[in-house]
Amino acid sequence: MSSDRKRRIDLGDVFDKKGKTDGSSGDDDVNPWTGIPFSAKYHSILATRQKLPVYQFKDKLIECVKENQIVVVEGETGSGKTTQIPQFLLEAGLAKQGRKCIACTQPRRVAATSIAARVADEMDVELGSEVGYTIRFEDVTDSNTTVLKFVTDGMLLREAMSDPLLSRYSALVLDEIHERTLSTDIICGLLMEILPKRQKGSQAGQLKVVVMSATLDAAKIQEYFHNAPLMKVPGRTHPVEVFYTAKPEPNYVEAAVRTTLHIHECEGPGDILVFLTGEQEIEQACEEIRDKARGLGKDVPELVCYPLYSSLPPHQQRKIFSAAPGPRVVGGPPGRKVVVSTNIAETSLTIDGIVYVVDPGFSKQKVYNPRIRVESLLVSPISRASARQRAGRAGRTRPGKCFRLYTEKSFHEDLQETTYPEILRSKMSNVVLTLKKLGIDDLVHFDFMDPPAPETLMRALELLNYLGALDDEGELTDLGYQMSELPLDPQLAKLILVSPDYGCSAEIVTIVACLSVPQIFLRPRDTAKQADEAKAQFTHPESDHITMLNAYFAYENVPERDRKQWCWDNFISDRTMISAENVRNQLTGIMRKLDLPVVSSDMKGDGSFAFTSIRHALTSGMFMQTAHKDQGGGYLTVKDNQTVQIHPSSVVDSKPEWVIFEEFALTTKNFIRTVTTTNVDWLVDLAPHYYDLEN
Ligand code: ADP
Ligand code: MG
Repeated sequence: MSSDRKRRIDLGDVFDKKGKTDGSSGDDDVNPWTGIPFSAKYHSILATRQKLPVYQFKDKLIECVKENQIVVVEGETGSGKTTQIPQFLLEAGLAKQGRKCIACTQPRRVAATSIAARVADEMDVELGSEVGYTIRFEDVTDSNTTVLKFVTDGMLLREAMSDPLLSRYSALVLDEIHERTLSTDIICGLLMEILPKRQKGSQAGQLKVVVMSATLDAAKIQEYFHNAPLMKVPGRTHPVEVFYTAKPEPNYVEAAVRTTLHIHECEGPGDILVFLTGEQEIEQACEEIRDKARGLGKDVPELVCYPLYSSLPPHQQRKIFSAAPGPRVVGGPPGRKVVVSTNIAETSLTIDGIVYVVDPGFSKQKVYNPRIRVESLLVSPISRASARQRAGRAGRTRPGKCFRLYTEKSFHEDLQETTYPEILRSKMSNVVLTLKKLGIDDLVHFDFMDPPAPETLMRALELLNYLGALDDEGELTDLGYQMSELPLDPQLAKLILVSPDYGCSAEIVTIVACLSVPQIFLRPRDTAKQADEAKAQFTHPESDHITMLNAYFAYENVPERDRKQWCWDNFISDRTMISAENVRNQLTGIMRKLDLPVVSSDMKGDGSFAFTSIRHALTSGMFMQTAHKDQGGGYLTVKDNQTVQIHPSSVVDSKPEWVIFEEFALTTKNFIRTVTTTNVDWLVDLAPHYYDLEN
C-alpha cells in the first residue's frame, strides 16, 4: 500500500473538515473516508457486490433501520448479509470517525478477521484503519479512525464490562444469531436492558440493532426482540442432489478422502468443499488428498487442496479464496480446488465456485455435563439443519451435489433437527462472573432467550464462591472483580492473581499463556520418536506445566532470527509460540493495570526456577481440579469421584499420589491432561474451605 494511503486523520483534522467524518463526500469517485480517489480494484469489486441479493434491498433496509430500533434480517448464506449490511449502515450515516462506530459480531475468530479484511478491500481502505477487527488478544482497530469493526461476540461482551451501555457504538449487527452461541445469547439478554436506555435523545444516543441469520426460527427471534420487523432476503440457489452411503462408514476421514478423489476423477468441473472437525484431521486429510492426487498422474486435471480452521494464520486462510488451477493443456479440462474446513464454511464464510460438498456428518461441539462439571469439545453428530446448510453450499453458482457419508436412515433417525443452544451446554462460571461484573445480580430474572438449567447456574455460583470471587451473599468480591478483568477461565484467572504471593508470577503467566494457545509440542506420526526425544530436553518429571515453561524459556533465549529453525529442530510449533508470546504480553499488561507484580523465582536468570513455589501456586489456583491414586492404579477425581487415567502424552509417569490437572478429556477412556504432582498437605493448607467440606 502506498504511503499516501496510510494517511491517518487525527481528531482535530476530522472535526474541522465538514463532510469527511461521516463518509459523505459528495464526490462519487472519491473515497469519502480517506479523501482519496477510488482504485480500479474498488470498482471491480463494486460490480460484484452489486450482484449480491442483499444489494437490491439496500434502500429498503436503510429505511427500515431508520424507522426501527431493532430489525431482523434473514437471508440465504452467501447473499451478502455480513459483508454488505454493515456497509449500508455506514452509508446511512450511522458512524462518525472518532465518535461512534458500528460493530458486527461473529461467533468465530476466523470469520471476524477474514471478513474484516474483505470489507476493508471492498471499501478501499486499509485494514486496521477505517475497518478493523477485535478478537481475544488481538485488536486491529484505531479509535480515531475506525468506523466499522468486526468483533467476536465474546469480545463485545467483554467491552460491555467497561462500557455497560456500549456507548461507543451507534449500531450493532448481531450476525449468525442462529448459532445461538453463549456470548451472543448473553449479548441479546443485555440488549434487553440496554436498548430502553439507548433510545433517541438519550445521553449516549440511539443504538440501532440488526439481527442477522441464514436460517432462523424467525417467530421466536421476533417475539424475543419485541416483535421487531423481519426482512427476508431471497437467495439464489440451485438444486443440490444429495447422495447417501449404503452402510455406515467406519472411518469418516478416510471416507472423506476417498470420496474427494472419486469426485475429482469422475465428476465434471467445479470445486469441492469437505467438512471435517479439527486441525489435526484436516491437515491429515489434506496431506492424503494431495498425495493421492499426485498419484493419479498427468492425465487427470490438477488438484490443489487448502485447509481452513481457526488457528491457521491469516495469509493461509486467505488462500481458500484463490481461483482453482487452470487446465494442464490449452483447451483441456480445468483444474480443481478442494477446501477442507471445519464448521466455519457452513455459514460464516462463503467460498464461491463450490459445486461438490462432502459431509461426514460430524463437528466439534462444546458439551457440558453439570453433574461432573466438565466441559469438553467432543466430536459429535451434526443436526439435520446443519446438514442442510452444508448441502446448500454446493448450489451457490450452479446445480451441485452433496455426498453425505452416512445413511439416509441415519439422517432421519439419528440426527437431531437442530443443535441445542450453547447456553444449555456450557459451563456457566465465566458467564456468571461476567454478568455479576455487568451488575446483573438477579440471574434468575435475566432475560435469557433460553434460560440455562438452574443446576448449572448453581454449580457456577458455587465454584465462584469456592474460588473467592463471590462472597457468601453472592456479591462480587475484590478478588472476583480482578478475576473478571482477566480474559481467562476463572480458575486460571485466580492462578494468576495468587502467583505473586509465591514469588513466581512471571512463570505462572507464561504457563497460563501456553495453556491459552494450541498445543506447543508437535508430535508428527511418522517422527514421533524424535519428537519425544526433543521434548525430553524440557521435561520436568513432576509437571507438564513446568515442562511447557521450560520450553518457553528456552525459546525466549534463542535470538529472534533463529527461532523458526530452533522450533523446527525441537518439534515445537513456532506459530503457537508466537501466539503464546502475544498472549503473555497481553496478560502482563493487564497485570500491570491491576498492580500485580510480575516477579520471577529465577534470580540468576538461567532458568533455575523455584519449582516447588510454582507447584504451590498451581495448587493454590487449581485446587478444585485434583485427583488421587486409587487402588486399581488409576486416579479418582476429588470433586466427583470419577475414575480417570493420566493421558499418555503427560510427562508425569511416576504415579504420584496426588495430581492437579488442567483438562478432563472424555474419549474412549476418561483422561486427565496437563498434570502436575501435588500433595494432600498443600491442598488442605491452601484450600481448607474446600477440602474440609469434601472429605
Ligand atoms: P452472507 O453473510 O449472506 O452469508 P457474505 O456477505 O459473507 O454473505 O458473502 C457475500 C459474498 O462475498 C460471497 O459470495 C463471498 O464469496 C464473497 N466473499 C466474502 N469474503 C471474500 C473474500 N475474502 N474474497 C472473495 N470473496 C469473498
Ligand atoms: Mg454471513
